[in-house]
Amino acid sequence: MGLKKYIIPFAISLGIFLIGFFIFYLGKKDKENIIYENAVKITQSNYKAVKFGYKKLTDYFYFDVFDENLLKLIYKNKKKIVLKILNKKFKKLYKQNINKLIILDLNGKPVLILSTDNTKKFNPDYLDGPQFVYPLKYKNKYLGNLYFSVPFSAAQKDLNYIFDDTYLFLLKKDVGLLRLKAGIIKSIIPSNLSENYYYEDIQIKDIPVTYINKRLKDKVRSFLGKEKPFSFIYNNEGNFYLITFIPVFNLNKVLIGYLVRYSKDNTYPIILKSFYMNLTLSFLLSALLGFFIYVFLKDVEKFRYLSETDRLTGLYNKGKFNEVLQQEIQRAKRYKRPLSLIIFDIDHFKKINDTYGHKVGDEVLKELANIIKKNIRKTDFAARWGGEEFVILAPETNLEGAKKLAEKLRQAVENHKFPTVGKVTISLGVAQLEPDEKPEDFIVRADMALYKAKEGGRNRVEVAI
Ligand code: GH3
Ligand code: MG
Ligand code: MG
Repeated sequence: MGLKKYIIPFAISLGIFLIGFFIFYLGKKDKENIIYENAVKITQSNYKAVKFGYKKLTDYFYFDVFDENLLKLIYKNKKKIVLKILNKKFKKLYKQNINKLIILDLNGKPVLILSTDNTKKFNPDYLDGPQFVYPLKYKNKYLGNLYFSVPFSAAQKDLNYIFDDTYLFLLKKDVGLLRLKAGIIKSIIPSNLSENYYYEDIQIKDIPVTYINKRLKDKVRSFLGKEKPFSFIYNNEGNFYLITFIPVFNLNKVLIGYLVRYSKDNTYPIILKSFYMNLTLSFLLSALLGFFIYVFLKDVEKFRYLSETDRLTGLYNKGKFNEVLQQEIQRAKRYKRPLSLIIFDIDHFKKINDTYGHKVGDEVLKELANIIKKNIRKTDFAARWGGEEFVILAPETNLEGAKKLAEKLRQAVENHKFPTVGKVTISLGVAQLEPDEKPEDFIVRADMALYKAKEGGRNRVEVAI
């Protein structure tokens, strides 16, 4: 198993943590989107509320002033009288910030323009923020349209006055410059969000835009081109602001700028906190799970080691040997490869036990196991067969090679100086697997060779017939 018991738990932990991260991240994104959607809705409704106030005024004006008499005069093209009547009434209207009244004929040509600024020409871009259109009819005859317009600056003031948040109008550069040139607005200041936008010069305090960093600017810029409402969260030294943009179009449906709303947000920090808490929790849980899997795998490894290994010598036990023997016989048969078996037994081991005691006997067994380990190949398989009998299974080895290995082992043992006991010898029997031979028969033949070695005077190698 080795490294696996570290890699598997780590991979599972990491996988679960990443899944958790992904789920929580999506959850956070969903919540953010709800915040953004709500911010857009609120901004739109607030702007609508302000516009609605002006609409009530223009409605009243339209129904009150544009009566049969006045419409008749318009119909008869009595421009001077119409202008005189309207001029008087318009004064009341522009005190309420409605600063333009325009009558357009059926072809869309201006018949009459009343304006507090000095624009006497009609250009849809000159029309400012909230705009209202009414049809002009006399005796079921359609005469043209009546336009009212309120400057952004007035709407902006209203918004800032009524609501707690900060509102600004961001004008497109060309529109801003055009209006400045036409004298509709007195001055404009460049926006620090984008060089393509200007603010009308109106003093509003506590605008956090000065802190807006480049990353945010790039994001805003890419959104500004889309001409759609959008909102995002901005963290200014621990204070979270929602910045919301609502596109504003002129009568020709061309974008002239954005209504921008800055509002302090208390929801986002909570979402952020719960996101990090979830991540921490998911990290801890996945780490804990990983640890449990590690402990389990370690136990499995330990259990397997114990079930396969002989406690005294550290070699494989008989059970494991039989398992490997079956596999190797199958492999040797399928690929027609040689497979050899060596069985050996310590000579006069009883005497060692009797003379020096069981403990010393055990030490001899351990020492012998070490000699085996040192002298076999990695692909060879050594096991303790029983008491003081051992087996070595040598794949890819014929009788000749196995005999050489047996002889090497015999000499290694004979030449080794065992503590207390001194010299120990072993007798070995060697056999090569015959075609179609059963495992039991294979072992019996090797065992018989060992018997022959004992019979022949011990400390020798015999080969099975
Ligand atoms: P030979 O094999 O040369 O014919 O003589 P032997 O004295 O080795 O005879 P035998 O194989 O019959 O004896 C095996 C002895 O090994 C018997 C038993 O007491 C001893 N033995 C078996 N297992 C252990 C063990 O785990 N530890 C010790 N110390 N002795 C063991
Ligand atoms: Mg024996
Ligand atoms: Mg023996």
